[in-house]
Amino acid sequence: MRNQIALSEAGAQGGGLELRRVNRNRVYRAVYESGRVSQQELAQRLGLSLPTVAQNLRSLCAEGLLREDGSFASTGGRPAKGVSCVLDARLALGVDVTRRHVSAVLVDLGGRIVRGLRRTLPYEDSPAYYEAFGAIAREAAGEAEPERLLGAGVSFPGILSAGGGIRSSHVLSLGESDGAPFLGAMPCRALFCNDASAAGRAELWDRAGAQNVVYLSLSNSVGGAILLGGRLYEGESLRAAEFGHMTLVPGGKRCYCGKEGCLDAYCAAGVLSEPYGGDLSAFFAALDRGEEKAAALWGGYLDSLACAVNSLHMALDCTVVLGGYVGAYMTPYMDALRARAGARDTFGGDGAYLEPCRYRREASAVGAALLFVEPFLSSI
Ligand SMILES: [Zn+2]
Repeated sequence: MRNQIALSEAGAQGGGLELRRVNRNRVYRAVYESGRVSQQELAQRLGLSLPTVAQNLRSLCAEGLLREDGSFASTGGRPAKGVSCVLDARLALGVDVTRRHVSAVLVDLGGRIVRGLRRTLPYEDSPAYYEAFGAIAREAAGEAEPERLLGAGVSFPGILSAGGGIRSSHVLSLGESDGAPFLGAMPCRALFCNDASAAGRAELWDRAGAQNVVYLSLSNSVGGAILLGGRLYEGESLRAAEFGHMTLVPGGKRCYCGKEGCLDAYCAAGVLSEPYGGDLSAFFAALDRGEEKAAALWGGYLDSLACAVNSLHMALDCTVVLGGYVGAYMTPYMDALRARAGARDTFGGDGAYLEPCRYRREASAVGAALLFVEPFLSSI
């Protein structure tokens, strides 16, 4: 996470070599967070001597991770040289698999999308599919040299196994497998991650100071991610944040999982889009036109969603970000949802903990790429 690139856990007491590594990472991190800064300011801010800062800057520049960047006016003597990060010194791929589409992004060390594309590619377990899947990833990677490419995160709509494979996917009708055809199609080393966890990771990135966030993904299924202390909480069976299967209405509507009354049956995107031919934008257009049927559907949806977010807030007492297909449309309706959530708040809150997502579609792909960016930043 941008605001908390981890320092070595061994800390400064690990001897001279370790201290040098920690200082090097602190120097890099300070430049990364500043955007552009002078050597003098770095020394002052980090409490390091000028020669130590200068030596680290020289080696980081020689490795292509930093570069000299203009100069700052000085009150006396020579102007101070500026330094900034070379954010595209390394790149990572993120590829998001859904039932009908594949999105791929190439992300730099700042978490910015260098290139992004989305293609219709209905999932089928066939060599032709995996060939087309790999071609989309290669297209996103473009001309990036292999040595600059840190890896590819494959965001997957399902539950992953502890060994790094696939346990199951309702969305793709897949059972247990090692997922080799997906990973093998990537142009570099690759890892799976759960799509909702990846999206949560992307949403937390760059949220200044945010350490604890619940991400509620409202897409074809309802899921999410819990980030505590800046880290993903995965649960003892890697099933944490399966918010879609919290019981909202005992004995209520049937969920795809076979149980009755799960949140998914009330808050999946299909609840809104199905009466509009599966087109969520058509539902929101009807809502904007003031169509009665759409308004009634939306009112019921917001009531269910308010119950869910209130429960999440009661359990974890932190920001709740609404993402997924529905989250991408939420911004104009946040006040309506906050009012409903506030009415349920035992402690008289006003729903201010609710935030819409920042990414519309590419959150999962970006989060998957960040799986490789974060460890690299920590390793500098
Ligand atoms: Zn369920």
